[in-house]
Amino acid sequence: MKSKMILLMGGQGVGKGTHARRLIARDGYGYVETGAILRALPPESPVAQIMARGELVPDSDLFGVIADAIKNNPGDIILDGFPRTVGQAQWLVKNYADKFDIRVVYMNVPEDIMLARIEKRIREGGGRADDADAAIVRRRLDSFWRITMPAIEWLRTAQGIRFADVDVSAEDVDVNFTRISNALD
Ligand code: AMP
Repeated sequence: MKSKMILLMGGQGVGKGTHARRLIARDGYGYVETGAILRALPPESPVAQIMARGELVPDSDLFGVIADAIKNNPGDIILDGFPRTVGQAQWLVKNYADKFDIRVVYMNVPEDIMLARIEKRIREGGGRADDADAAIVRRRLDSFWRITMPAIEWLRTAQGIRFADVDVSAEDVDVNFTRISNALD
């Protein structure tokens, strides 16, 4: 049987990390958290400077990093924050759909809720450098709509994978988690 690969996709603040951790606690997936892997790079590296501006790192800088992370996490895995471009989505399906049962979960919420959740993350002290600056948050949201949404739309109809569009706009995290769990059944 193929291992499962769950792709958690959605804009900033939708709760990808929160729900990834819940799924892992329940089912024991390996975890590839793209943003955290990239944040571990030295602050003077070109990639860190791109991230500090709230821009997306070029696909060519990511493929090796992601391939290594997948290799280092044998068995069922969750990818959080990858893919974020059509090129990344196509690369993933081309190279991994034969080895993994790929399940995309598009965590769908309106932008005003994303913004409210980012503000809450800052208020509760969990905010990151790239959350604190309103202009950078705006840039990341714009790149979500402009660059990542087409990747989500491409995956919605891609052959050989399964795609779920899940409304996670409920206030209650448990309600959203149940919706995600049901979509993955
Ligand atoms: P995240 O923690 O997932 O919000 O990612 C933080 C930052 O890392 C993003 O704003 C991007 O600069 C970079 N990044 C994370 N994932 C990707 C990706 N799949 N493609 C390009 N850049 C990414």
